[in-house]
Amino acid sequence: MNNIHGHCLCNTVEIIIKEYGNFVYACHCDGCRRQNSGAVLSVDPGSGENVEFTRGKDKITVYHDDGIERGFCSVCGSNLFWHNPQDDHYCMNAELFDDIIKNAEFGLELFYDRKPAYYSFAGERKKLDCNFEEITG
Ligand SMILES: [Zn+2]
Ligand SMILES: [Zn+2]
Repeated sequence: MNNIHGHCLCNTVEIIIKEYGNFVYACHCDGCRRQNSGAVLSVDPGSGENVEFTRGKDKITVYHDDGIERGFCSVCGSNLFWHNPQDDHYCMNAELFDDIIKNAEFGLELFYDRKPAYYSFAGERKKLDCNFEEITG
């Protein structure tokens, strides 16, 4: 897909991913769970060149978390993105993008060894631990 529109809960922030498929992954890391009260479902558009903030960029607050930028809408609080400024890599909240989630391929769970026992997603998919090594069985 091209020029995939996303927006936050209050519509102040609008984001476009220039080119992406439908791949979605979950992150169970400590930071994501604390920020969102659960695993975060994300898309991985990659380089900042593939992402455009088309509205409300001045309303985005960035929290700096151990070298990583976590961006959220300062009006409604929606979690927007995780950004590594070292290599300009963006991962974005999948639920901002209606056209992706309506036909998402949920193919990966990250930091699976950090997931607490009380919840889990149905179905089978690739799982990586906090060292990005595959968990089998
Ligand atoms: Zn908002
Ligand atoms: Zn995470």
